Amino acid sequence: MVIETATRLEAAWAALRGVPDPEVPVLSVVEFGMVRDVQEDEHGTLVVTLTPTYSGCPATEAIAADVRAALADLAPVRLAQRLDPPWSSDWLSAEAREKLRAYGIAPPCTGAEQQPLRLQQAIACPRCGAPRSERLSHFGSTACKALYRCLSCREPFEYFKPI
Ligand SMILES: [Zn+2]
Repeated sequence: MVIETATRLEAAWAALRGVPDPEVPVLSVVEFGMVRDVQEDEHGTLVVTLTPTYSGCPATEAIAADVRAALADLAPVRLAQRLDPPWSSDWLSAEAREKLRAYGIAPPCTGAEQQPLRLQQAIACPRCGAPRSERLSHFGSTACKALYRCLSCREPFEYFKPI
């Protein structure tokens, strides 16, 4: 039984790693740090604990549906939401940040590198790597991103705002 459970949990994590974030499809919901926990209860139901990146993010419901669909073949699924501690962009791994950059989105600054007064100049261009950029809009294609333009190559890019 124990081995069966371990195998099922492993399969669940593998399936979840294949669920892309609806707004940043280059990252999975696992890479985003949204999947906090996967357990199996005494009835064999998979209990998946999710922490949404932004509360009120319109993608939250889409993510829940995608998670259910991804696990539907494995076992019955129950979703739980954990809001405390709130999701932090610091949960993004170095690999996830690199994928964001390769996708053309500047990854959020970590707490340590945040310099609020110089924020507009501090976001490096994900395309050419130039350190200076200007903010065009506080909101990009979604509320969790801002629109910037590189002062070197002049290309606009999105910046995933840290929270
Ligand atoms: Zn540039």
